[in-house]
Amino acid sequence: MQKFDTLQETRKGLSDKSISCTSVLRHFLSRIEEQKHLGAFLEVFTDSAIIKAAEVDEKLKTGKAGKLAGLVIALKDNICYKGHKVSASSRILENFVSLYSSTVVERLLAEDAIIIGRCNCDEFAMGSSNENSAFGPVKNPHDIKRVSGGSSGGSTAAVAARLCHAALGTDTGGSIRQPASFCGVVGMKPTYGRVSRYGIVAYASSFDQVGPLTLCVEDAASILEVIGGCDEFDPTVSSKPIPAYSEEIEKAQPPVKIAYIKECIEHEGLDPEIRAFVQNLLKRLEAEGHTVEAIDFPYLDYLVPAYYVLTTAEASSNLARYDGVHFGYRSPKAFDLESTYKKSRSEGFGIEVKRRIMLGTFVLSEGYYDAYYSKGQKVRRLIQEKTGEIFSKYDFIMLPTTPGTAFEFGANSADPIKMYLEDIFTVHANHAGIPAISLPLGKHSNGLPFGVQIMADHFNEASLLRFSKSLLNNA
Ligand code: GLN
Repeated sequence: MQKFDTLQETRKGLSDKSISCTSVLRHFLSRIEEQKHLGAFLEVFTDSAIIKAAEVDEKLKTGKAGKLAGLVIALKDNICYKGHKVSASSRILENFVSLYSSTVVERLLAEDAIIIGRCNCDEFAMGSSNENSAFGPVKNPHDIKRVSGGSSGGSTAAVAARLCHAALGTDTGGSIRQPASFCGVVGMKPTYGRVSRYGIVAYASSFDQVGPLTLCVEDAASILEVIGGCDEFDPTVSSKPIPAYSEEIEKAQPPVKIAYIKECIEHEGLDPEIRAFVQNLLKRLEAEGHTVEAIDFPYLDYLVPAYYVLTTAEASSNLARYDGVHFGYRSPKAFDLESTYKKSRSEGFGIEVKRRIMLGTFVLSEGYYDAYYSKGQKVRRLIQEKTGEIFSKYDFIMLPTTPGTAFEFGANSADPIKMYLEDIFTVHANHAGIPAISLPLGKHSNGLPFGVQIMADHFNEASLLRFSKSLLNNA
């Protein structure tokens, strides 16, 4: 049988009738079973997926199938799908069943994607290693002693291990791009406001964004053009029309202006092989006729602290709803209102989530609000202004996605600050609200993959995807 790792390949097989959606789905279902040890899936939606696949096969016969016919896609476990469980990998939401579908799920189904299951992640999307899931870690398919990255670790490992064509993740500070780098796949965070967050379990609402994890840029473009665009249920979504990305990426690639941030490339925490790889890539691009220039970005050291002040503040407010009354887990030991709150939250949340709720409550407290939260907001504004200035002169910023390759389980567990610094190159795009992509271009001498990250100006996904395609296809 023909290869069908990607939607691209599957479409060919479907059109020459060498495969059917049902046969592709069955293949992935058995792959998931074989690769269970990775811990990528929390649940496989076998029944609803089989029904959908049969329905799409019927539609294909009459030429009525949607744009994503043949796509088998997984969801991060913080994306609601009506009648299916969603837990944000937390005990506090264990066994919670979605009462409605998120906009992204509605749109995927309307275009005939097959949703195969929900994937493990860090609890409430807080983490960089998937070690914070209440339901066990996710192993890196390239080396099972190492982490998959996080927080969309299950989604990413599932794509890397060929358990589905693609997955949706969410990215608040790098949770799509960082695991994409660690597992060797394409991971894209769109512009803040490009994709609806209706029906997504909120972490930090002014940062969160949904995006695709795929094996190729073409599939990312096909998915983004379906899930993106205006949504009456999410007022933060832009009304800008959504371009046909899958057509845009077929256009010829003109020469572009690329900036690289000196402080990133020279950062002492950056693996020397990754540094050399990015430097060589920049040289090659210059030789090919693109403009490549070094720029200063004086806020590198403030990115991570400001991120953790602002996101924990937002998280402490978003997670207040899990109180043992409205949603999810209620402690059997509770005996009055206060003990219901205290015991349900103490028993339902994991240690990292509790740490962040406390940190967030602290930075918002009366005595410290000005010192932390207000300052964090001001730093974010400076980052945004500086970023805007860069994009008035350049098309893209290129930098590594991660300071190193996937680390071993437990390597950063004792020191939260060390873990937070894993996000040093990814949080910039979330502060600024700009689109960013991690491309699986690098291969380290330790045998592990690593990503190269490209950031673009707001709503420039079409040119970002086109340039990414040209890079990946000429790698
Ligand atoms: N690692 C970051 C954090 O823990 C990013 C998480 C995310 O993007 N959801 O906050």
